[in-house]
Amino acid sequence: MPDLGRVEGMSGPLDKLEQWEDFVKQRYNPDKKESEFRQYTAEAPKGVQEFYRLNHTHQTREFVLRKKREYAALGRRQMGVWEAMEYLNTLVDESDPDTDLPQIDHIVQTAESIRKDGHPRWFVLAGLIHDLGKILCLYGEPQWAVVGDTFPVGCAWSDKIVYPEYFRFNPDSANPAYQTRVGVYEEGCGLDKVDLSWGHDEYLYTVVKDYLPAEALYMIRYHSFYPGHKEAAYDYLMNDRDREMFEWVRKFNPYDLYSKSDSRPDAAALRPFYEDLIAEYFPPILRW
Ligand code: FE
Ligand code: FE
Repeated sequence: MPDLGRVEGMSGPLDKLEQWEDFVKQRYNPDKKESEFRQYTAEAPKGVQEFYRLNHTHQTREFVLRKKREYAALGRRQMGVWEAMEYLNTLVDESDPDTDLPQIDHIVQTAESIRKDGHPRWFVLAGLIHDLGKILCLYGEPQWAVVGDTFPVGCAWSDKIVYPEYFRFNPDSANPAYQTRVGVYEEGCGLDKVDLSWGHDEYLYTVVKDYLPAEALYMIRYHSFYPGHKEAAYDYLMNDRDREMFEWVRKFNPYDLYSKSDSRPDAAALRPFYEDLIAEYFPPILRW
């Protein structure tokens, strides 16, 4: 296995990217009470808290627009979807020497549980690829610009966003134009016109937007937008199409959070099925 991810792959306070996902999973555990929720965030590992401090401090509107422009060119790599999965797998978690393929395990498990429930093929495919945008880490992007719950920039931050207190460090807090309810947007303008904090969702959306049905694109683009799909914050920026499509984002979420199984999927055995599925929607080589 190439050593590519070890050095530049993980810049940030999380030991591994899954630490953020584990935190989200605990936070939205349906059995958890409101009081436990508060306690949980207060007692989150220091690395997780520091991760959110950095995320909330540095995800300014200016930063988001710059990253969107930079990655819109899709000039980083040219590769097929399976190759991108293998590339993502070079991102090795330092703290987890036993699981050498954690990223591919998560995406194959997500896709397999969607498949078992008899959902459409594009839904399965969305599950398979939804986290491929995490290769941003391999380009040297810091963790806070790859993962984390996403939120709109250029308007007031919802107090439904986890650790809202860290936004006081964000330079946008000093810009009154960005601090009103709708900010730079218009009431009900639709999320396509809204800039969310930059990360693996928006990046993968940019790569695949010409190839998948709208429902799958919503799942990919908004799966980390927890303030939107779990908390119903920012409904006033959405239009009716967003609301309709968010049903699919919500349908996808449990597969993302809860499809970790103890038995590791046999990626090699499953590969022919998934190569067929990939070829049904994507050209052999994509621009990334
Ligand atoms: Fe994700
Ligand atoms: Fe995921």
